[in-house]
Amino acid sequence: NKITIAIDGFSSTGKSTIAKQLAQKLHYIYVDTGAMYRAVTLYAMQHEYINECYFYKDKLIENLNKINLTFHFNDKLGFAEIFLNSVNVENDIRTLEVSNFVSKIAEVPEVRKKLVEQQQELGKNKGVVMDGRDIGTVVFPNAELKFFITASADKRAKRRFDELIKKGDKVTYNEILKNVESRDHIDSTREDSPLVKADDAIEIDNSDLTLTEQFDKIYRIVQH
Ligand code: C5P
Repeated sequence: NKITIAIDGFSSTGKSTIAKQLAQKLHYIYVDTGAMYRAVTLYAMQHEYINECYFYKDKLIENLNKINLTFHFNDKLGFAEIFLNSVNVENDIRTLEVSNFVSKIAEVPEVRKKLVEQQQELGKNKGVVMDGRDIGTVVFPNAELKFFITASADKRAKRRFDELIKKGDKVTYNEILKNVESRDHIDSTREDSPLVKADDAIEIDNSDLTLTEQFDKIYRIVQH
């Protein structure tokens, strides 16, 4: 019997890597909800609704219905990539610039409402692994299995830093740490659907776990 698996937690905990692997192993679909918030952020940046100095929230809200997000499975990668108005933005949404604005965009209740509805639609047939911040609390409060992934801020920043450097981005460790800490703060203190562990979620601190150790731990729980 197929179930719904919710994976929530702080930024850069490696949630999406775990969720992808789990979905592949179980032949489930994987939905990266962070990618959806990031794609809305990219749209806002492209239309100059947001930059370092301002955020025209009303403009964004007014134009939300022009934002069409879809996922298309990429056989080579083994997961679905996100498209913003028919354009593949899977890479463009991963920059530090998008990361710096995304939590502000994700605070807007109208944005959350739109994306949560789409997420519920995507996962309505079960057999889904969804990762985000509010999956076990808001999107699928009745999910059969919920994980809450944590790790220390400096471990997370270090992993993120290594990843971006490998891609050739010019970033410093301190910038990344600042971004991780600032997103933690905004995500867990916002009024609408703050990041909290669902009461029935299983908490996994992966600060000192390798990816394999973490996957094994989670997969063992899933099989029970
Ligand atoms: O998971 P990822 O780091 O890509 O998410 C980017 C941002 O999107 C988070 O920092 C958070 O502000 C927002 N987000 C959210 N709710 C979700 C997923 C992501 O608010 N379900």
